[in-house]
Amino acid sequence: MGVVLDKQWGRYPESIVQLSKNEEDRAMGLHEKSIIFDLHMHSIILPASQDDFPAWFSSYRPPMGLEGMKKGGITAMFDGFSSISQFHTKWDFDGVIREIGLRLCDIDHTYDKVIRGLRAEDASTAKQTGKTALYPFIENTGQIGYDLDKIDFLYGMGVRGMTLAYNRRNQIASGRTDKVDAGLSDFGLEVVERMNQVGMIIDSSHASAKSGIEAAEASKDPIIHSHGGALGVYPTSKRMAPDEEIRAIAAKGGLIGIHTGPNAIANTTKQTIDDVMNHLDYIAKLVGVDYVCMGTDNFFGDKNSLHEYAIRESPGAGIGKYLKFNASHLEGFENPSEWPNITRALVKRGYSDQDIQKIVGLNTLRVVKQVVG
Ligand SMILES: [Zn+2]
Repeated sequence: MGVVLDKQWGRYPESIVQLSKNEEDRAMGLHEKSIIFDLHMHSIILPASQDDFPAWFSSYRPPMGLEGMKKGGITAMFDGFSSISQFHTKWDFDGVIREIGLRLCDIDHTYDKVIRGLRAEDASTAKQTGKTALYPFIENTGQIGYDLDKIDFLYGMGVRGMTLAYNRRNQIASGRTDKVDAGLSDFGLEVVERMNQVGMIIDSSHASAKSGIEAAEASKDPIIHSHGGALGVYPTSKRMAPDEEIRAIAAKGGLIGIHTGPNAIANTTKQTIDDVMNHLDYIAKLVGVDYVCMGTDNFFGDKNSLHEYAIRESPGAGIGKYLKFNASHLEGFENPSEWPNITRALVKRGYSDQDIQKIVGLNTLRVVKQVVG
């Protein structure tokens, strides 16, 4: 596509979470043997320059950070496939399926490194074969219009999870950045029921808090808040989950995934993996370690650059309502190749081996088994 891609890592000096020799051995042993399952990230690489964003978007098939995923020891992820659709074609259904089809084509042509994640067992297969399983995920549900069968259609194309709304209100749910939170619509309740029937995971992360609570109550299966954090830790952000939403999701056996993007979970000028752990600790204390995991929402390239471009070119996406650019990057998790730092940070915070294995992957695997099968 004639686009110069950014480096997968090395834009900033690597920052390794410092541990004693024994702790480091324990952390790396755990990281290597565990299933590392990210509840929400993006496997893609951004262009090095904003000038190349139009061509990158128009291709509908951003290349994957294969070496970075390997370096991070990532077994599986829900891969947000809608990076193009959300900013470029503004959730047009044809744009969504074009992106899914082209991304799956590229995954199938890279079979020696990545596989499609369609069922829980694919994560285990990826672990055994040293590959990464990518579970297709869409950050909106509005693209189905009022046609419930399009949920089945998207499932047939491999999609295993969808967010009810992307920041602003749609026909299904209020958005996270709406000024009025009206929760789910009547049609939204039908969407919850159909997603349950087909076995697709329901996500509240960009939908409103009330939508998350109502979806958790209406759903027969666990639901997720795939990438975010706790409003109790970062009370001035419109993007975070309040305690009531976290409790409702946990009560249904669901999960809150912790974000690692710069400026998403803190607004200080220097942000580190400690900010990530502060959200994780808060949620673990509020509802228990079984209901928290990592939904890093990370990708390869300069996150601020993409979001600046998105705020300029697609203001309706609502990102400008919660994202400021105070920090250049999040130290210790600048990109997904730094995933081992999560395991190190959990050791440093005193979590047991069993709890660490749940947080880095087994909790997500449990929900996939329960909802998708
Ligand atoms: Zn998102």
